[in-house]
Amino acid sequence: MQVPAHTGFAGLVQDENWRRPRGWAHPERLNDPVTNLPGVGPTLAKRLVPLGIQTVGDLLYRRPRRYETAADQIPIGSLNTTDEVVIAGTVGDIRTRVLPRRRSLVTARITDETGTISATWFNQPWVAERLRPGMPVRLRGKTGRYGFDVKTYDLGDDAAKATADFAPVYGASEHVSPARLRELTRTAVENHIYDVLDPLPAELDLTLRRDALATLHFPETPAQAEEARKRLALDELVALQLAVFRSHDDSAVADALPKPGELIERYRTALPFTLTEHQEAAIREIDRDLQKSVPMQRLLQGDVGSGKTVVALYCLLRAVEAGRQGALMAPTETLAEQHFLTVEAICRELGVTCVLLTSGAGSKASRDAIASGAAQIAVGTHALIQRGVEFADLAVAVVDEQHRFGVEQRQALSEHRPHLLHMTATPIPRTLALTVYGDLAVSEIAQPPASRKPIITAWVGAERSSEAYERLCAHLDAGRQAYVVCPLIELSETRLARAAEAEAERLQRAELRNYKVGLLHGKLKPAERREVMRAFKQRELDVLVATTVIEVGVDVPNATIMIVQEADRFGLAQLHQLRGRVGRGAEQSYCLLISRAKDELTDNTKARLQALVDSTDGFELAERDLELRGEGQLLGTRQSGVGDLRFTRLRADRALLERARDLARGLVNEDGPWHDEADRLLQGADPANLA
Ligand code: ADP
Ligand code: MG
Repeated sequence: MQVPAHTGFAGLVQDENWRRPRGWAHPERLNDPVTNLPGVGPTLAKRLVPLGIQTVGDLLYRRPRRYETAADQIPIGSLNTTDEVVIAGTVGDIRTRVLPRRRSLVTARITDETGTISATWFNQPWVAERLRPGMPVRLRGKTGRYGFDVKTYDLGDDAAKATADFAPVYGASEHVSPARLRELTRTAVENHIYDVLDPLPAELDLTLRRDALATLHFPETPAQAEEARKRLALDELVALQLAVFRSHDDSAVADALPKPGELIERYRTALPFTLTEHQEAAIREIDRDLQKSVPMQRLLQGDVGSGKTVVALYCLLRAVEAGRQGALMAPTETLAEQHFLTVEAICRELGVTCVLLTSGAGSKASRDAIASGAAQIAVGTHALIQRGVEFADLAVAVVDEQHRFGVEQRQALSEHRPHLLHMTATPIPRTLALTVYGDLAVSEIAQPPASRKPIITAWVGAERSSEAYERLCAHLDAGRQAYVVCPLIELSETRLARAAEAEAERLQRAELRNYKVGLLHGKLKPAERREVMRAFKQRELDVLVATTVIEVGVDVPNATIMIVQEADRFGLAQLHQLRGRVGRGAEQSYCLLISRAKDELTDNTKARLQALVDSTDGFELAERDLELRGEGQLLGTRQSGVGDLRFTRLRADRALLERARDLARGLVNEDGPWHDEADRLLQGADPANLA
């Protein structure tokens, strides 16, 4: 076979067995279900769903977590090193032990011609079911305290086939082994790589995306893998930039609002506190924007608990005062309901009508009120911008946790041409803010209300968890309330909910038997959830056991202590968000992070937990987080409208970012309306670029 001249990598893309397209490629086939691949049946397909894999494209665009580097295969008899090595042998006795705190240990005797060792798998109980005495295995890992600590493994037939020494490792699961995923990905590449088209114009002379993807999955060297990743990151960043450029429509007009008047005066008086200097400054900036006849596009950044909601409500009331409407949109129902409680309480005092609109019940009445103008303020989820919702006269919209919405959703909102205030508690280092938000004006609430004492954070190993609960009970006895956050397990929402339920019951019987325990998780019906939140707010419950659904928005100043179980499973940003649920009143608040025994943790995990103990400053923590993780998935860039940044490592890819911005600008400046072009680019397909 002729190697195409434009193949940029020496990777496997030249494999003769791969299906070459006749005529056009079929990009739409990337949306085919995985069951269209040879050898994939419905059972396997079902098992792939929790891994986020449903289509062929999902497989292709799944970035390997890491690559196995070349490791020497060592005879078991001469294992004595601390390096990562590979052993191959046959399985003997298999045992499973249950350890405290829901952990488990599977051990299996492995024998080759030179000796026997006991191989260990932590917290992967399912491995025991797949091992059989006499089965050949190929294990990669390190000799550790308890034997050979297995990192990745190939069992049975897979073991015989496994030879690659520089191979991708994908996030696997209970039911789908790493080896199986590798094989599946190979099948997907073999059958569909030619359906991957290039979104960027051919004149740019970039390596083809399909070559980059193939190389990403099957590189020969680490350098190739990195080069491929960068190429894919470039597409991602260009798309992101285009989306950002596009969300800024310079020609839009809005009605200027009159100066603040009597209603605002009453609002200020009604507040039980005086606004901080930072809040006042933000309000001044907002006032200036609202006087103009171009729509406000302002980002209000402020750490958790810094008091953004008060400013948001100010904006909404400015609209009401002008005889028009305001809307507050939040990313989750819980958060929307929380906001509604806060906003409605004040609105009632001011004689302003306020409705809640989520996808749940009662929406017909709310929609009608919004359409007739009877509702002066509407609080809700993205239900607010769905078809069938007509605002009588929307003047101001506030979008909370705006990074959780896609660009499209933000755009749907701006079609009403309101003044827009975006809020975020996810502090994004300045250098990145520009990329993600483009040219939004930024206001910042850099300090929380002065009466607030910084939260004291302590980190303890699991062996001291009873002390943590004693502390918690002491707060309860003093009339305060508390949160217990359940471990983050990579399971379905349903299983997570069930685990939280079990944990709440356990705590109610054990540590918290003298107190009233409530439960909050993602599977509760809206009405149930509202009831739990109401009961907690009104102190009918002492403790709220919750999953991360409490991450944003829950605001109960009387809650002064939080325990996070298995805190080592959470990311830094997430822990910071969770912690922000306490420390909302004048009382000193505490956050107790319980982790596995400290000597079981990696250095990186220890550094992460220590960072939280050391600092309550969200900006500092965000920088630290970037440093520790060194890559993508920084919260603020997720769902920027073009999906997650899967391939980008923001810190390492600064130069790439510049290049992407130039490329995007070039595309934007091309003659004529560029929206169509951008559309195609964002969809990632342009048949004209097919080689
Ligand atoms: P954010 O949305 O930024 O996380 P909130 O607006 O929910 O923070 O405010 C957190 C808490 O601080 C709320 O209970 C709010 O009533 C209170 N708060 C806001 N501004 C002030 C202030 N100027 N002085 C005292 N308390 C305030
Ligand atoms: Mg908030």
